Amino acid sequence: MKSFEAIKLYFDRAADQLQLSENWRRVLLTPHREVQVQVAVELDNGDLSTWVGYRVQHNKSRGPMKGGLRYHPQVDLDEVRALAALMTWKTAVVNLPYGGAKGGIALDPKQLSKKELERITRAFVDQIHDIIGPHVDIPAPDMGTDAQVMSWIRNQYEKYHGFNPAVITGKPVEQYGAEGREEATGRGVGIMAFKLLGRMGRKPQESRVAIQGFGNVGSHCAKYMHESEFKIVAISDVSGAYFDKRGLNIPDMLRYYLDHNLTLQGYAGAERIANKDLLELDVELLIPAAIGHVITAENASRIKAPIIIEAANEPIEPDADQLLHSRGTCILPDVLANAGGVTVSYFEWVQNLQYYKWGLNRVRQELEAVISRAFDDVWQLSQEKRVSLRTAAYMIAVSRVYKATAASGSF
Ligand code: NAD
Repeated sequence: MKSFEAIKLYFDRAADQLQLSENWRRVLLTPHREVQVQVAVELDNGDLSTWVGYRVQHNKSRGPMKGGLRYHPQVDLDEVRALAALMTWKTAVVNLPYGGAKGGIALDPKQLSKKELERITRAFVDQIHDIIGPHVDIPAPDMGTDAQVMSWIRNQYEKYHGFNPAVITGKPVEQYGAEGREEATGRGVGIMAFKLLGRMGRKPQESRVAIQGFGNVGSHCAKYMHESEFKIVAISDVSGAYFDKRGLNIPDMLRYYLDHNLTLQGYAGAERIANKDLLELDVELLIPAAIGHVITAENASRIKAPIIIEAANEPIEPDADQLLHSRGTCILPDVLANAGGVTVSYFEWVQNLQYYKWGLNRVRQELEAVISRAFDDVWQLSQEKRVSLRTAAYMIAVSRVYKATAASGSF
């Protein structure tokens, strides 16, 4: 199933519950604007090369549109469109005053020099600077982009529009970035894990956890959950999976990861298991925090964890989601589970607009308040309506976007 079809399926389930008309469904699903541009630059060797860049702005009824910019060879319009819609529902479910957008360029950043990446980024901004802005559409980092890329974007945008740090989030902390942005998504996942297991009557100390992915999200999630006394028995990254039934030594793994260029390759402090086996371990909680589409109709029947938290975007395919739901697996959906990142991006934007910098403690406190409220709303609705947490999250999001669009009277 293509990415946008999957998002539409979850949207339709919520729309059925909300009894939305066909016309309204079309209004809410159709992107506000889709832009495809040519990005042509000279490579270091003098050759001229061309890429295709995209920016999809899905819905702006609740505020300026917000969403990442992805540099990856498989970026295409369908994926960007799906992720833009996901951002509309994500910002709505945590009640940030934003709409949703997403962008990307189909390229492999590992094949390009830093100078080439800078030229491509600046050429892309030249093409889209008129349709982004602090009150229009605010990009952020995503797969393949980082604080450096955000810094180039800000600088290039400011050449056209003057001083405007709020045009982009995920900037370096020294350049109007927010304290705590880097840890925010993983920390948010950890906070929600604590709340979800509490609601289900499980204690952290008695809960075995497996985490797929030890990058930005997985490592910060593991750190927070270790500090909250969860027993993390398995962690993987592209180099393989690491297992200890007594609980992994997380501080040791974090040190190793930081000392070895952000990888666990060669870590010898735990038993090695096959990467795919991590997903099928006998644990209380499974957290896919790496890439999309890892739980499919093929392996879903072998997943033993009764609780799954989708830290990555779209890690569970719709067929697998259906199968797991019918078996009683509790799934905290991506649209809520990984919203900690965009929440702290929102705090960064607020600070930029006010020229006032918050400390780390304030960021952490406000993050916990925002996502705890969102979690409680979703949990309560799922209990009241006897629907999955995914359908409840979509119901809250779709209903907020519908009401804002209808109230504005402008489509
Ligand atoms: P990252 O690149 O920092 O880390 C990805 C991790 O996954 C790495 O440890 C990598 O080795 C591992 N990995 C890749 N393929 C794997 C595989 N087949 N098996 C096991 N491990 C594998 O990325 P990230 O920023 O941590 O993002 C992870 C996911 O979370 C993505 O789906 C991303 O879209 C989503 N997400 C991230 C943020 C954020 O703020 N970083 C926000 C929302 C959603």
